[in-house]
Amino acid sequence: MSEVAELATRFKLSDPKPARCAACFASADPELRFVDFDCMIDRGTFTDPGGANAVLDSIDELHLCEPCVRAAAEIIGYKPELHRKQLREIRALDAEAKRWREYAEKLERTLERRPAPRQAPIR
Ligand SMILES: [Zn+2]
Repeated sequence: MSEVAELATRFKLSDPKPARCAACFASADPELRFVDFDCMIDRGTFTDPGGANAVLDSIDELHLCEPCVRAAAEIIGYKPELHRKQLREIRALDAEAKRWREYAEKLERTLERRPAPRQAPIR
C-alpha cells in the first residue's frame, strides 16, 4: 500500500467523540461529527473561563470537528468527489500490484523447481 493510502486508512470518524475539537474547541454534541487523525498532540488544557483555572479538558489527541475539516479542505482546494475517486483508484492499483507481485513470485519459485531439460540420446 502506498504511503498516502496507508496514512488515509488511519483517519476515521471519532468514536468515542472527544470532548472538544482540537482546533476550534467546539464542544461535542450529538450532531457534530469529528475526525480522528490517530495522532497525539499537546494542545494544552481547556480551563474554566470563570477564572478559577480549573482544568475542564486536556486535548492530547488530534480530533477535528467536521466544520474545521471542511474549512481546511476548502483552503487547499479539496474536491471531495474527485479525491474520493482517486483514493479508490490508488487502493485498487495497490491491490492489483500486490496480486501481480505475488504471481511473479510464484512463477519464480516454479522455475526454480523445474527439472533441467533432458537431451535425447544421439544415435
Ligand atoms: Zn473545530
